[in-house]
Amino acid sequence: MDRRTHRAAHRVEGRSAAPGIALGPLVRLAVAKHDARQHRSAAEEHQALVDALAASKVALTVLAREVGDTDAEAILSFQIALLEDDNLAAPAFALISGGAAASRAWRAAIDPQIASYDTADDPFFRARASDLRDLRDRVRRQMAGEADQAVPAGVIVAADDMPPSMFLTTDWRDGGLVLRRGSPSSHVAILARSRGVPMIVGVDVDHLEDDKDAMLDGDAGLLIVDPDSDMRAIYSRRRAEQADVRQAVGSFSGPALTASGEVVRVMINVTGLAELKGLDPAHVDGIGLMRTEFLFQGREKLPTEEEQYQIYKRMVEWAAGKPVTIRTLDAGGDKPIAGLTEPGDINPFLGVRGVRLSLRHLDVFREQLRALVRAATAGNLKVMIPMVTVPEELDQCRTLFEQALEELNREGQNAKMPPLGMMVEVPAAALTIEDFNADFFSIGSNDLIQYVAAASRDEPQLADLARPSRAVFGLIRRVVDYADRSGRETSLCGDLAGDPEQVAALLDQGLRTFSVAPGALGPVKAAISRYSGPAA
Ligand code: PEP
Ligand code: MG
Repeated sequence: MDRRTHRAAHRVEGRSAAPGIALGPLVRLAVAKHDARQHRSAAEEHQALVDALAASKVALTVLAREVGDTDAEAILSFQIALLEDDNLAAPAFALISGGAAASRAWRAAIDPQIASYDTADDPFFRARASDLRDLRDRVRRQMAGEADQAVPAGVIVAADDMPPSMFLTTDWRDGGLVLRRGSPSSHVAILARSRGVPMIVGVDVDHLEDDKDAMLDGDAGLLIVDPDSDMRAIYSRRRAEQADVRQAVGSFSGPALTASGEVVRVMINVTGLAELKGLDPAHVDGIGLMRTEFLFQGREKLPTEEEQYQIYKRMVEWAAGKPVTIRTLDAGGDKPIAGLTEPGDINPFLGVRGVRLSLRHLDVFREQLRALVRAATAGNLKVMIPMVTVPEELDQCRTLFEQALEELNREGQNAKMPPLGMMVEVPAAALTIEDFNADFFSIGSNDLIQYVAAASRDEPQLADLARPSRAVFGLIRRVVDYADRSGRETSLCGDLAGDPEQVAALLDQGLRTFSVAPGALGPVKAAISRYSGPAA
């Protein structure tokens, strides 16, 4: 008899963040010791850097032991030697005692050293600049709690929180995710839904034991530790049902029609080419949101113009004439990018994120705009700007686009200005929508809701406040009405659009273009087909 059936199963309740079911051993991830978002004393900042340096050394030593390649070993030994040299971090510790945050101090101390390697006459020393840059970013990741902890496939990961970069580098085949923090509209949950990884949040992970077998029910928001044989049988049945549902989605392959025959467009949200594998473009009305920041996550170096161009072009080609709406970088908030976003931001969701960040890093932004303007020649590309608050931000983006176009024309490269739209996710923008020179609008309900309610999309305790309310629907209606009057298109690409229970309310506001996670296509089209007009 199965020894596992003798143990008493126990249920741990959480909140559903991504549907689906998984069965496997529990793996607890170490809690990130330092939250870079918090304000800390000089002693705590000092300790944060000490710990990050020590953890980086351990990680590099383990890597050096495992690589089995002499070139790589030499690079890693050089980095370890640098970490062992007290002079390396001394200027950072001095800045910290003067009141600087650890991450900022570390960067301020290392960047001049990188610059001096960069300008060395000797090519050997010049080449060391990239090793030092790599080391700088590793230590920064440690401080941001984004350490590279390897997670095996097929397990249920339990953690306090997880940065999107780590989610993206994990093999989730047959696995699932249990978090204490986060909410259904945090970015990790968005990724989990789009990749079909069952996930629940709001779980006290401290009491979970490593290696115990567990069954994760993403639909019910439930974790069952030590499931008995009856529960395992339920698991097998549900997996079979899921496969049936996936097949059934194909039956909603045509255009979405309301009960009265009105056409509603349903597009998809993606984060890269991975989600397009196995998806037939005939089943969708295009890509309504491509979140490009995930191309920048978890990498040692930011993607080049050429790398971005190739990805954008392949997306446009995949869509075969249907619109592909690519959003410029929306880094910051809960999507930090090492070396780009500011880890010392006290309130990241109200800080330098989205277009605010892009306009402060024109070197990075220009590369993206050049890649987009080039990809626009390959098909039906549209570009939208995230987190626009005032009209001047969009105007500046338009000017930068025109400059990129002129530059490429001068270089004799193929380029074209795509339609330029904006995300409507800041209440100020929704309230003054008439002032913006946008070619189209896309409503970001995830952020709009959190900013209207002043309740973080990441805070499980405020889930009841961070909900679609009359105030939110009022703003949606305002934007849709203005777009209709002025002959512009409005879509809604936040997660509200993918919730079948909200479909009727959104149609009531006049919305006729939805953009949803690929997994929500079937349920949303089904909900549209049941809609017969506003309730009397
Ligand atoms: C939104 O805010 O609704 C949105 C689509 O953008 P993101 O979730 O990436 O912030
Ligand atoms: Mg947003």
